[in-house]
Amino acid sequence: MGTYGDRGNARVLERRLAWRDLPGEVVEIAAGEPIPSTLDVYVIGGAEDVPQTLAAEGLGASGPAIEQALDGGSVMLAVCAGFQLLGTTYVRTDGKAVPGLGLVEAATVAGPHRRIGEVVVDTGRVGVGLLSGFENHAGITTLAPGTEPLGAVRTGSGNGDGRDGAYQDRRLVATYLHGPVLARNPALADLLLSWVTGPLPPLDDDMADRLRAERLGAAASRPRWRRS
Ligand code: GLN
Repeated sequence: MGTYGDRGNARVLERRLAWRDLPGEVVEIAAGEPIPSTLDVYVIGGAEDVPQTLAAEGLGASGPAIEQALDGGSVMLAVCAGFQLLGTTYVRTDGKAVPGLGLVEAATVAGPHRRIGEVVVDTGRVGVGLLSGFENHAGITTLAPGTEPLGAVRTGSGNGDGRDGAYQDRRLVATYLHGPVLARNPALADLLLSWVTGPLPPLDDDMADRLRAERLGAAASRPRWRRS
C-alpha cells in the first residue's frame, strides 16, 4: 500500500543513507508476494478500504515473518491504513471487519466522517519535535492501555482522541501522517535509520526545513478535532 505518495518514505530512507555514503536498497513487495524476514526497515503506506482489505488478506500469512524481523532488530514505519493493519482490527464504513496483524494493540473503527487536512503532532519524549503531515481517513483508532502514541495532536485529528499513531522504542513508528511523512520530517527518518545504523552524522536539510516551516504555518489555521 502506498497512497498519497507514501512510497516516498522508502525513497527518503534510501537517499539519506546514500547522502552519507551508506548502502541501502529499496525492495518493493508486490501484492501477494511473501514478505521476507531479512529486511532492516519495513515501510507500509496508506490505502483506501478495498485495497486495504486485499492487503490484509495477503499480509496475514507474512505476519510471523514481520514479527520475527522486528524481534531481531528490524524497524517498521506504518502510515494510515498501514497503521490500522498493524493493529488488531479495522471495522470499515460498511461494517466489514478487517483483521490486522496485532503487532500494535490498537483497534480502529470507521468514524462518522472523513478527517482531511494538515496535521501537526508534538512527539514529546520521542524527541523529534513537531511533525508536519496531512491526513485523509475515516478510521478512529483506540490504543490499548500501555500502548504509547507517537505524539499529541496539535492540529487535525490523528487517532481521533488527541493523540496520533503508536510508538515502540527502537522498533516501530505508526502514524496517520502522509506527506510523505519522512520527506516533511527528516528527523523522524533519521530516528528510524539510527535504530538500524547507530548514530548518524547530520545532513544539510535546508530544503526540507523550509517545507516544514511553510506547512506548519499553513496548519495553524486548522483546529484540533473534537473527540468523536
Ligand atoms: N481506509 C482507511 C480509512 O479511511 C485508511 C485511509 C488511508 O490510508 N488514507 O481510515
